[in-house]
Amino acid sequence: MYINDLTPQEIVSSIEQIGLPKYRADQVFRWIHKSLERDYSKMTNLSAKDIHYLKDSFQYDMISIYKKLESNVDDTKKYLFELGDRNIIESVFLRYDFGDSVCISSQAGCNMGCVFCASTLGGKERNLRASELLEQVYMIQKDLNTRIDSVVVMGSGEPLDNYNNLKKFISIITDENGLNISKRKITVSTCGIVDKIYTAAEDNLGFNLAISLHAATQEKRNKLIPASKKYPLKDLIEACDHYTQKSGRRVTYEYILIDGFNDTEDDVKSLKELLKNSNCHVNLIPLNPISEFEGKAPSDLQIRSFYKSLVKNKINTTIRRELGRDINAACGQLRNNYIK
Ligand code: SAH
Repeated sequence: MYINDLTPQEIVSSIEQIGLPKYRADQVFRWIHKSLERDYSKMTNLSAKDIHYLKDSFQYDMISIYKKLESNVDDTKKYLFELGDRNIIESVFLRYDFGDSVCISSQAGCNMGCVFCASTLGGKERNLRASELLEQVYMIQKDLNTRIDSVVVMGSGEPLDNYNNLKKFISIITDENGLNISKRKITVSTCGIVDKIYTAAEDNLGFNLAISLHAATQEKRNKLIPASKKYPLKDLIEACDHYTQKSGRRVTYEYILIDGFNDTEDDVKSLKELLKNSNCHVNLIPLNPISEFEGKAPSDLQIRSFYKSLVKNKINTTIRRELGRDINAACGQLRNNYIK
């Protein structure tokens, strides 16, 4: 059992089982999730005897920095982390005016098969544990000696295909005895696993929901995102509207711009029709090229003109500033090519 994979309640029952007093649970949880201490012997308010029992009974789920790439054009840093079983995952540190953020992976590889995305090329290796989700944030916070303000679960993997661990991750990272990051500072990006959007609403997870929309008609979306066939657009938008109602959070629709495919006036019309009753926001992302997909980003002029058309149609829209392109840290370029 991994000590850093346990919720506060689970730590209580686990340490009681090995005969430690209940009050130790809070102390241990704080050491791990607030002080980010991995080494039991440095947990100074524990007795030597209790440290001994803890060491004997629980492992710590470690990840380590395999490689770190620093951008020359901005403050972006990409980390390749090695997991206990030697899988390699990627996380990205991003510095914004409003604070420091990390983009974390939710799975080693991905099963979704989106045609424009590098992360899915080798399929899914496995789900990450909550402790592995947390460690990506902790390792970066420690390495850069900073305070992470927000987390986006937008690296490789489909977070809603790893729902239970995602839920556990959110409960621990928002805990006041942990990093105490507000739910409102957590964004989860999904290609649209409809039933799990309802579950997240029921479970009150309260994160910002981002949907990889990328096309505004069923026919076009099917060509990009295989999961779209199982979770039709109409159902997806309904689920998102329900999420907004329940959580009070406006949904963000991410829309990759692919030259000549989804950037015309017809696409503006379809988007307008699709989102006409939704309280939402559209984030345009110029496609980042990958060799396995033939599409390319439209010209800057065309991107501006698509943006202006959406705004004219009263759709809240922004164009995403791409960070870290020189170190392959941009969306869709996180690839599983370091697995040994
Ligand atoms: N599976 C989740 C999260 C990972 S993808 C999801 O689908 O949302 C994170 C974001 O990067 C998504 O919006 C995804 O569509 C986008 N993305 C993937 N490949 C891309 C590419 N080549 N260029 C730009 N964005 C891309």
